[in-house]
Amino acid sequence: MKFNTKTIHGGQQNDPSTGAVMPPIYQTSTYAQSSPGKHKGYAYSRTENPTRTALENSFAAIENGTHGLAFSSGLAAIDCVLRMLNPGDEVIAGDDLYGGTYRIFTRMFQKKGLKFSFVDMNSVENVTNAITEKTKLIWIETPTNPLMKIADIEAITKAVKKVNSVILIGVDNTFATPYLQQPLALGVDIVMHSATKYLGGHSDLVMGALMVKDVKLAEELHFIQFAAGAIAGPMDSFLALRGIKTLHLRMQRHCENGRAVAAYLVKHPKVKEVYYPGLENHPSYEVAKKQMKDFGGMVSFKLKDESQKATFTFLENTKIFTLAESLGGVESLVNHPATMTHASIPEQERLKTGITDSLIRLSVGIEAIEDLLKDLEQALGK
Ligand code: PLP
Repeated sequence: MKFNTKTIHGGQQNDPSTGAVMPPIYQTSTYAQSSPGKHKGYAYSRTENPTRTALENSFAAIENGTHGLAFSSGLAAIDCVLRMLNPGDEVIAGDDLYGGTYRIFTRMFQKKGLKFSFVDMNSVENVTNAITEKTKLIWIETPTNPLMKIADIEAITKAVKKVNSVILIGVDNTFATPYLQQPLALGVDIVMHSATKYLGGHSDLVMGALMVKDVKLAEELHFIQFAAGAIAGPMDSFLALRGIKTLHLRMQRHCENGRAVAAYLVKHPKVKEVYYPGLENHPSYEVAKKQMKDFGGMVSFKLKDESQKATFTFLENTKIFTLAESLGGVESLVNHPATMTHASIPEQERLKTGITDSLIRLSVGIEAIEDLLKDLEQALGK
């Protein structure tokens, strides 16, 4: 199946009991057994639920994996991966990450004895130079949130596996989605999503996803999911499954609009810098062009006037771009990373990577581009 068919049919079958084309929302915690242990494949919904199974099969299909797992949030999915590690194990991660990812790494798992090194993944050598015999996991976010940095997934994977083939490589594919890049096909072990974002696509749920292609790894992750219990519920599973069916259409428009917004901002006299991997002067433009089908709908920028007043005036004055946390929904959102999504990163660390108080992040939605540009124009003029 081509990707645009997989989003609709991947891993799906009509409901065996009624022929329903969409899986019913199996809003049940438990299932009747005819004799102890004798049931129809479902015993208790923390372990398995048919609506979640349908979604997990879709997750696997769209990322070219063999197994998918649905969690109650993106961070619950990351938590599940980290729980495979033991005190003393080391993780190498990118130096620009979603604030919550940085927080769970440094304020939860570092305390429990894991060690994290944060490197600029622009360069493959930065990653391989950080490997020690204790390295167990490489965590790549690309494009990064919020600075839109790009890591060469295939080059990093090849180089790391050459040093030590058992080091696991995980990619947070939230910004790109499998429409734009499919890390499992590039040799990666684990793909993770905040399905809250583009996979769900309608800002109506919070969910996480893991996709893998190795049975043993799937079993290990499934055990943690079942034992720790951070599962996605049936209603949210249904909504995510519905969202995925239009992922390819939405992404096409997100990319078109993202490109147009980036091109508009680059030319605007009040704008100092635009962060978008589809711009030819982006430091990793060539890698992005090779690795991604298109460049996505996330655009960050800074105004020439970097004062808090100018930044906040813009943030307070957009009308179609809603000032809010999150991203990846059909509607356009604007965000102030320093005080919102990345507030949990200590100021010193934030400033080191370039998340200054003047950085603005746009999640460009799928509205008419004319209206989006008009909205930016009037907010920039204030
Ligand atoms: N990864 C990225 C790139 C994100 O942007 C987010 C949330 O914004 C997460 C992970 C965490 O996902 P969730 O908010 O669903 O827990």
